[in-house]
Amino acid sequence: MKVVATNLAAVADEFDVIVAGGGPAGSAAAIAAARAGCSVLIVDRGVHPRQKVCGCCLAPAGIGVLAQLGASSVLDGAQHVSSVHLECGDRAVIVRRDGGVAIARDQLDESLLHFAAESGCATLMGAIASFSADGTVAVRQDQIVRTIRCRVRIAADGLQGTSLDGLPEFGWKVSQSSRMGFGATVDGAALDLAREQILMSVHGGGYIGAVQLADGRIDIAAAAHPSVVRSAGGVAQLASLWLGSHVRTTAMIGAAQWRGTSLLTRRRMQIARSDVLVAGDAGGYVEPFTGEGMSWALATGSSAGSHASAMIHAGASFSQWPMITSRIVRSSRARCFMIAHLLRHPRILQTAMSASEFFPSVTERVANAFGSDFTAPVLRDFRQEPAQ
Ligand SMILES: Cc1cc2nc3c(=O)[nH]c(=O)nc-3n(C[C@H](O)[C@H](O)[C@H](O)COP(=O)(O)OP(=O)(O)OC[C@H]3O[C@@H](n4cnc5c(N)ncnc54)[C@H](O)[C@@H]3O)c2cc1C
Repeated sequence: MKVVATNLAAVADEFDVIVAGGGPAGSAAAIAAARAGCSVLIVDRGVHPRQKVCGCCLAPAGIGVLAQLGASSVLDGAQHVSSVHLECGDRAVIVRRDGGVAIARDQLDESLLHFAAESGCATLMGAIASFSADGTVAVRQDQIVRTIRCRVRIAADGLQGTSLDGLPEFGWKVSQSSRMGFGATVDGAALDLAREQILMSVHGGGYIGAVQLADGRIDIAAAAHPSVVRSAGGVAQLASLWLGSHVRTTAMIGAAQWRGTSLLTRRRMQIARSDVLVAGDAGGYVEPFTGEGMSWALATGSSAGSHASAMIHAGASFSQWPMITSRIVRSSRARCFMIAHLLRHPRILQTAMSASEFFPSVTERVANAFGSDFTAPVLRDFRQEPAQ
């Protein structure tokens, strides 16, 4: 399956909405805006299918957003997930956690981009978008650079995106205690893992997760303090150490194609201005422990697409965007932040797990945090509603 990729030379001079980034946030934004009657261009600097460091577990809230977008078919063949195996030191607990799926990011992101193209969006892959101060978007593909006009620009280009680099008011604030992410997809024979189960192993300095995908491969993803990675001698060594007795063949872990991220916990100084909305990881991120990042991205992305249409067709303002985003993600991000901080002290978790027979609440709360539901925004068609 190859994503429909337009040649930059063939793209129109003007769109209602340009979306930088073709991950879950960008595709959801583009689909929502196109469904609300906007002409849309999505630009992604990657060529899909592309790999992305991710635990690949999509929570019920994200599944709900896809259903609202009419895009549930992108999950065809995804692996059902029914429980979480949480371990810390010599303690382990298995908690039932139904309703989520595991899906490879190369597959999910490419299917979503296809769905966006089928919904009428123009798609440009292998192209870099830069938002200019004059309201245009400079797009570079190979040696060609073009300036494209639009009415609303959506930055959905993730933690390592560059679309907002020319607008310093959108700069990042990165947490001092932030961890970095790393991950790889390995052959199913590399680890001893129960199917339909998320393994999450907590250690001093970070945690590692693994899940089997529908095609039998295993996705591994972790968050660790950079100093812990350095002292282990690299990400593959740390992964082998942390996965411990689950590792069947260390050579397969060592030979995998490991990818890393920049520091994870961060937020933007602002997430909107007159014609710019920021969605998904591009607007800020906490930590991956609760496995909700894709759901936050899908929810804020589809809401950004819908709000862009409201700005164009119904006189809505950019200034409403921070409040809308906050309503969608604030409580689940706060919960994730609290749990991430509890896990900075794995001894507390270990003690709670030792006593879980008598005091089950702490352990259950941590395990139950995986992919908890949150209220996804309702999509509206602003062309049918009176201007505000
Ligand atoms: C270790 C780890 C484990 C995780 N585990 C989970 C999990 O189990 N479940 C879960 O839901 N979430 C998980 N997440 C979080 C999840 O991966 C992210 O929240 C999600 O990918 C965010 O989607 P996005 O669309 O905002 O950004 P991305 O998926 O990062 O997409 C951004 C896109 O923008 C493109 N881009 C960048 N700059 C430009 C530019 N200038 N022009 C054009 N394109 C550009 C990139 O090529 C990329 O395709 C995990 C994250 C980490 C680090």
